[in-house]
Amino acid sequence: MVEIKYVPSICPYCGTGCGINFVVKDGKIIGVEPWKRHPVNEGKVCPKGNFGWQFINHPDRLTTPLIKENGEFREASWDEALDLVASTLKKYADTDPNKLGFYACARSPNENIYITQKLARAGCGTQNVDHCARICHGPTVAGLATTFGSGASTNGYDSIEEADFIFCIGSNNMEAHPLFGRKIIRAIKNGAKLVVADPRFTPTAKLAHEYMQFKTGTDVALMNGMIKIIIENGLQDDEFIKNRTKGYEEMKEVAMKYDLDKVAEITEADPEQIERVAIEYAQAENAAIVYSLGITEHSHGADNVMSTANLAMLTGNLGKIGGGVNPLRGQNNVQGACDMGALPSDYVGYQKVANPEITKKFSEAYQIDLPTTPGLTLVEMMNAAHSGDLKVLYIHGEDPVLSDADIKHTKEAIANLEMLIVQELFMTDTAAEADVVLPAAGWGEQEGTFTSGERRVQWLRKAQEPPEGTMLDWKIMEEIAVRMGRPRELFHYENAAEIWEEIRELAPSYYGITHERLLKPEGVHWPCLDPEDPCEPLMHKDKFAHPDGLGVFQALEHKGPVEVVDDEYPLLLTTTRILFHYHAAMTRRCETLDKEVPTGFIEINTEDAAERGILNNEIVKAYSRRGEIEIPARVTDDIKKGIVNIPMHFTECAANMLTNSDSFDPKCKMVELKACAIQVEKL
Ligand code: SF4
Repeated sequence: MVEIKYVPSICPYCGTGCGINFVVKDGKIIGVEPWKRHPVNEGKVCPKGNFGWQFINHPDRLTTPLIKENGEFREASWDEALDLVASTLKKYADTDPNKLGFYACARSPNENIYITQKLARAGCGTQNVDHCARICHGPTVAGLATTFGSGASTNGYDSIEEADFIFCIGSNNMEAHPLFGRKIIRAIKNGAKLVVADPRFTPTAKLAHEYMQFKTGTDVALMNGMIKIIIENGLQDDEFIKNRTKGYEEMKEVAMKYDLDKVAEITEADPEQIERVAIEYAQAENAAIVYSLGITEHSHGADNVMSTANLAMLTGNLGKIGGGVNPLRGQNNVQGACDMGALPSDYVGYQKVANPEITKKFSEAYQIDLPTTPGLTLVEMMNAAHSGDLKVLYIHGEDPVLSDADIKHTKEAIANLEMLIVQELFMTDTAAEADVVLPAAGWGEQEGTFTSGERRVQWLRKAQEPPEGTMLDWKIMEEIAVRMGRPRELFHYENAAEIWEEIRELAPSYYGITHERLLKPEGVHWPCLDPEDPCEPLMHKDKFAHPDGLGVFQALEHKGPVEVVDDEYPLLLTTTRILFHYHAAMTRRCETLDKEVPTGFIEINTEDAAERGILNNEIVKAYSRRGEIEIPARVTDDIKKGIVNIPMHFTECAANMLTNSDSFDPKCKMVELKACAIQVEKL
């Protein structure tokens, strides 16, 4: 008899954290259906949620370890591959652990990520561990931690439905976070006004009551201009500023230099509109700010984030439902990857490496002497590989060859390594460059937790057995640690729930999230210090997370993109996600999604195209100081003149052939993915 069952899980694409049910027939996943009782998506999913499962049983799945010899991969046994990896890691762990680096996977469950950082720290004695948040929401972590004391979203996602006014800047959530976008639509139905500020007239902007078009990379100037207008009109919340914040006068002194004429010149936005939007934001009872990578992926991304925090503190829009600063985290578990300590400066739960007491605690727990100096960030690790200072890089499920800025630089860096180890489901662009490839189990084939962008921790169930020949990520890393001579009991767990217990014990902000609580459909939001605490999603209700409880205004000057346009490279390139794709290795192996958008394109303004004689759908050449690609043109009035846009998902016309890895944010090491100077030519 055919057995059909439904196994609840969480979507593996964006950070909204929608619930789905795997449909499992005779032990094999054959589809998904939306999880009707799930509190985030209430029985709805976007195309990725609906069809994004199709990669799971794709014939391209890796099922045998691979070792490269003379430039070619050959199949290897697990023993041979694990011995080779362990002996290479041990050679440097025993002599100079700083020659080792680790990238953790923000698509993987928390438990796998925790073990990746544990292999780096407890296995190898290095703090060189990071992940892709560095180049998406690293500025959020740095910027909101500086201003609010915690680098995460201030409100739960449902809160947006209670807003009267939504200022959405640098977020095309109708494509990148569609089920959050649904909540914005509900807010509009409830009477909220939506203003979208973006260089592109996106599907989200098309929903807005007002679309504010402005120039890429001028966010600080725009928000300083709004702050000045609010103060000049006496609309600041004096009580909130006095009782709950510090640094106001310093911030005000800088912001007051940004009069409307100056702001309009920098941003190329309409000054009357800036004034109107600023006043309406300040006058609203509950005004929310929503942002995403349009704010963060700049060489001044942390300043952009802190500008949003300044606006919200100025108007007292924090600690209340319907208000707040709401960053929409990119990948499904990028929040969790930060929380789990896949950061060179932080252990699990944002406990600081630089604090000797904290490092002593982890040195004892991990039975190794750990340094109190933070390790290298993701960008610094690749640069260290390029200069020959990093010898071995262990990449758990990331694809930096496609996703990091400047592909040529990334490939040169990798070529300089003694060994690149990649733990993956598929032969990604990065895995193809590896010396050893370790085939891992994937989504639907293991248990564990994801933490969504609203800090909601949710339990994933296993729906089918992993393919024969693969191993669970944490099991692979246990075997490597043991082969390095580390005690098995330090790395041995019976299941993901045991790893979760260790996370709870070491991270106070997760302590209240028991496994039992996680089994409920709604999951649990952190911070959650106590198993009895209901752990509501709203943060900073009465005080901020800084030790003195005060929010800290930041005085911020406009800086703008480092690479500016000139006669040779007159167009400013920005990069985006689209509705039908996310991680290319996964969505491009989902037949339905791939058919919808089978390749990339460059969006170019109608006038810019006409100046170059470029027609819609014509293949054009796009080039920068780093490289060139050939790509179909999409000629449109939906993008500002002088700006062009390429979706980031497509290897054959990869935007990151053009982007710039030289200029990065000193506060968080974010590279300038959203702005570089290029030229586009008719072929
Ligand atoms: Fe998945 Fe995000 Fe779509 Fe929800 S909105 S179904 S989490 S991709």
